[in-house]
Amino acid sequence: MNLEEYVEKYCLIPAISGHEDLMIKSLHDDLKKFVDEISVDNLGNVIGLIKGKSDSAPKVMIFAHTDQIGMFVKAITDEGFLKIVRLGGVPERILAGATIQIKTKSNKAISGVIGTISHHLTPDDKKYVVPKIEEMYVDIGASNKAEALALGIEVGSPAFYEPKFTKLANNRIAATSVDDRAGCAVLVKVAERLSTSKPEANVYIVGSVQEEFNLRGALVAAQQIKPDAAISLDLAVATDTPDMKGVNELALDKGPIIGLYTFHGRGTLNGLIPHPKMVKIVEDSATKLKMNLQRHASVGMLTDGSYVQFVEDGVPCVDLAWPTRYTHTGIETCSLNDLRGLENLAFNIVKNFPINFSGSRI
Ligand SMILES: [Zn+2]
Repeated sequence: MNLEEYVEKYCLIPAISGHEDLMIKSLHDDLKKFVDEISVDNLGNVIGLIKGKSDSAPKVMIFAHTDQIGMFVKAITDEGFLKIVRLGGVPERILAGATIQIKTKSNKAISGVIGTISHHLTPDDKKYVVPKIEEMYVDIGASNKAEALALGIEVGSPAFYEPKFTKLANNRIAATSVDDRAGCAVLVKVAERLSTSKPEANVYIVGSVQEEFNLRGALVAAQQIKPDAAISLDLAVATDTPDMKGVNELALDKGPIIGLYTFHGRGTLNGLIPHPKMVKIVEDSATKLKMNLQRHASVGMLTDGSYVQFVEDGVPCVDLAWPTRYTHTGIETCSLNDLRGLENLAFNIVKNFPINFSGSRI
């Protein structure tokens, strides 16, 4: 399968945090063909190993998260409507009128729509108001609570945007869960290339869980691996649209991205300032490939790399990314050209990872 086919396949698999099972199975089965060893831990992290020159060669962990944002059912009204809570950064602005699916006890997907006041009867003072999630409701077609329960929906049922994958002009795509399924697709392609072009370092290919929930699934994988270095693959926000112009310099089709500073102040108080030696490895690799490398520094987002860095005596980490528009909507938009560039960059970094690497700062 080529990169685009993996991206499409993974974007169409619903797997919200804590309910990653379909993605765990899919990624496990796809990676299995290319790695020397593979396991899945108790949280659901898929951990593949491509062996290097020797056991004492550096261990490099490269990872992308398998989970996605979503919702949980928190109540069912007597009339059969579902009330929901958000899992992760679901923007309320885009929910009214959206089509979603709810996963039942027997793993069936039930379709629902998020209701909204009919336009014809919307009072003037409500026209430009975004309702709070507490006021929203999902219409699954049931006419009472018993019918909803009979479909297998209950409090705690996971819900997600209706999976979608649309091709746009110029090799661009719009899809659900480009965050971080495009990263998962890149992981598999890197593993495929390493299977025939062996690295000197021991390369751990990891699909991590619960990034959109608590950012700490990858931490559990890193505790087992004890990597000498780690590379996260996740999106960064492109601002090359009329409403975001100039917020940062990231744009589609300008190549992969190195994260130089992320910080999230709303609760996590975490982020990543990459290890200087990892920055040099990434920059040198891009230069050798004659590839444009976009630079990213921003407040308001972070990746699970920010927790991986705290394992053992500290793990030199760096974020690699690709530019994406409309993040956390059901139409996350990116360019396959950037993903191919990221695949190439990530492959070359791990393939040529220095055999004498040390994270020492002096
Ligand atoms: Zn992500």
